[in-house]
Amino acid sequence: MSALPTPANSPSPNRWTHARALLPRFRDLLGPAGVIDAPADLAPFCADWRGREPGSAPFALLPATTAECAAIVGLCAEARLPLCPQGGNTGLVLGAVPDGEIVLSLRRMNRIRALDPVNDTLVVEAGMVLANVQTTAAEAGRLFPLSLAAEGSAQIGGLCSTNAGGVGVLHYGMMRDLVLGLEVVLPDGRVLDALTGLRKDNTGYDLKQLFLGAEGTLGIITAASLKLFARPKGFATAMVGVPDLATALALLAFLKNEGEDALTMFEAMPDAGVRITLEQFPNLRPPLDGSSAWHILVEQSLFAHAASPEALETLLAEAMERGLAEDAVIARTEAQRQAFRAIREHLPLAEKAFGQAVKHDVSVPISAIAQFHDAACAAIARIAPEALIIAFGHLGDGNLHFNAALAPGADASILAAKAAEITRVTHDCVASFGGSFSAEHGIGRQKRAELAARKSPEALALMRALKTAIDPLGIMNPGRIV
Ligand code: FAD
Ligand code: ZN
Repeated sequence: MSALPTPANSPSPNRWTHARALLPRFRDLLGPAGVIDAPADLAPFCADWRGREPGSAPFALLPATTAECAAIVGLCAEARLPLCPQGGNTGLVLGAVPDGEIVLSLRRMNRIRALDPVNDTLVVEAGMVLANVQTTAAEAGRLFPLSLAAEGSAQIGGLCSTNAGGVGVLHYGMMRDLVLGLEVVLPDGRVLDALTGLRKDNTGYDLKQLFLGAEGTLGIITAASLKLFARPKGFATAMVGVPDLATALALLAFLKNEGEDALTMFEAMPDAGVRITLEQFPNLRPPLDGSSAWHILVEQSLFAHAASPEALETLLAEAMERGLAEDAVIARTEAQRQAFRAIREHLPLAEKAFGQAVKHDVSVPISAIAQFHDAACAAIARIAPEALIIAFGHLGDGNLHFNAALAPGADASILAAKAAEITRVTHDCVASFGGSFSAEHGIGRQKRAELAARKSPEALALMRALKTAIDPLGIMNPGRIV
């Protein structure tokens, strides 16, 4: 196995003194808006979305251009100072929370570089927030389909770097499928201009794919060329009640086969998850009259097909006749559609407010997800009866956020003491179904030991060889992934 460069990334006084000695040069380069070092202003850069494990950094640098970003990285390489790239800081695995490194925030690099509705491409800088990318595409009559609950804060650079998924993956894929080209500042300060808008380009290795999902460990993404799509002419959305995940899978197959390829969302929520969401957000309304064990948010995007809300209603009536659904409500208005989607979007927020949970982000083959769910629930019940499983998310992709929350009245300290064991049995169960212990949130600092333990030696050796070849000084987000 190749050795890794190991810069000490703890907040050692020497390192910080060394970093602070460069502050005048960074101020000259970036101006006052580009350097943040007052403790109160720096604090938000040092905590994650869940408010966990506040990190530490000597200061944050905010370049406004690629040239400024390249100059920062060049100076840091010369001085052997590690950097932690940061986007919207909504990542869930402590990848963007500094552990003593200088924070490099891309938030000032938020411009549109080019929009080509005929080539169906939008080139934006890394700091542009996803919601603004969606709006820009919509204003040009096109669609950028990535959609997730953090879209008001997550930035294109972070989304690329985590290969983000979300609720449209079923139809459109993840960021690796949505990016045609990248501009990247390499760890020595050179700029890789691979910002192509080409759909066909077989000129050797696909270098952009190295940086997509690399969580900032191989370079700083400064701009991305994104694929645009036709805007649907409308949506047919329904909330469907099913008794179990096996029935949900049969419904998924039915809708895929009979629904003219219009299915763009198939998200599962357990009854317990819907209940805590309605409790935490009393302005939301219960979507179904009955009490099904699972709620499935189904959405078809209406292109030139015959699909329509009425056609979906007919399809779901047939699904009910075949025993594939217990209950279904069709959204009749855009407000109703948004109300259904709001329940799914608020579920992670409700869970956060509900309290402590041992969280997992797992995937297995779609066909195995019901069996996985039942097997993992049984395994956890054996070791932690005080856990309340709230498994929700992207059923249509075989991806569940499989979380063990605290059952009402149970002792929080017991669950906390069993957290490692709960994760071990869950991930063992995932492995037994040929799955992944990190479906969409990445590795960061949080799952690094898990990666080392569960990835094959061959894969780990290749990953380490890539890291050493591209970042020989080890200054790019050290301590993440490998
Ligand atoms: P950050 O958190 O700032 O950074 C993430 C990682 O990328 C870090 O390792 C960081 O160092 C690195 N990085 C950031 N910018 C750059 C750059 N320009 N160049 C190089 N490296 C960089 N994720 C999903 O995939 N699907 C979901 O459905 C989903 N739902 C979510 C819902 C909520 C409520 C929340 C809080 C998060 C959710 N996430 C989801 C996770 C998160 O939103 C994504 O991981 C997102 O891609 C992170 O973007 P960000 O800009 O916040 O990146
Ligand atoms: Zn998700």
